[in-house]
Amino acid sequence: LAESYLVGLIGDGVTPSLTPPMHEAEADAHGIRYLYRPIDLAAIGRPGSDVGTLLSSARELGFNAFNITHPCKQLVLMHLDSVSVDAERLGAVNTVLIRDGRFHGENTDFSGFAHALRTGLPGVALDRVVQLGAGGAGAAVAYALLASGVRHLTLIDLDAERTRERAAALAALFPDRAVVAASPDDIGHELAAADGLVHATPVGMHQHPGMPVDARLLSPRHWVADVVYRPVETELVRAAVALGCRVLDGGHMAVGQAVDAFRLITGVEPDAGRMRHHFLDL
Ligand code: NAD
Repeated sequence: LAESYLVGLIGDGVTPSLTPPMHEAEADAHGIRYLYRPIDLAAIGRPGSDVGTLLSSARELGFNAFNITHPCKQLVLMHLDSVSVDAERLGAVNTVLIRDGRFHGENTDFSGFAHALRTGLPGVALDRVVQLGAGGAGAAVAYALLASGVRHLTLIDLDAERTRERAAALAALFPDRAVVAASPDDIGHELAAADGLVHATPVGMHQHPGMPVDARLLSPRHWVADVVYRPVETELVRAAVALGCRVLDGGHMAVGQAVDAFRLITGVEPDAGRMRHHFLDL
């Protein structure tokens, strides 16, 4: 165990992120000295392409680890000495460990969502899933769904080209599954045959209020997972709960990525329930 930990979050607009206080409170509960600072590219006027320079400087300044977020999750890859198998396949890194002067990349967005799905919606049917949103969060979530055993995944996004590319990339990684791109017009048809709906667009955030899908297309037999976590109770979550669906709110992924990152950084097993409580209090 290191004597103390110095950790940072590199990304655009990360000043208000809830991840630093989540890590620090969990470390406090373990009696670990742990300081976690947001390094906001917008605030310091640096582009995402500076992530390698920032990491090198941080190594010289004694940092132990970083979380990496938008727009650096892909950009950081070329600066790493090693990468976990899943982060390499996914092509995105959100956690960098600095060990013996070397940079090692991991992806806890994917593992955090997979864990949330296992523990928050245990035993749900994973045969057919419809996922709305194929951007950054969507890529990690789709990978987690396939790694968790989903056999048929339909991706739907307003950006048809992005959807097709993402579906093709995932199909190549999981050749024994079906990963297909569909258009937003097909959502009713797709949901009629699906076990679950995963939502990974910004719709429902404080800045983008609303429902990403017509609630009449949902029925109580669907399970619903949202990744939006500001607010935790989105319109989608509220509607799905009202229908009697089994529901996983976006806070579970936000906490899940922090739980897995904390364990990687410290080697100490965090208390996931306590981290969720702390997150909900923030
Ligand atoms: P992004 O911009 O990379 O991707 C969003 C995608 O949604 C885009 O491809 C866009 O075309 C699509 N989209 C937007 N509106 C749509 C609609 N009405 N129908 C279909 N597709 C639509 O953004 P992102 O980084 O993937 O973030 C998406 C959401 O996930 C945000 O709310 C973010 O806060 C949340 N998020 C949550 C976590 C977590 O840990 N819970 C982690 C990362 C991101």
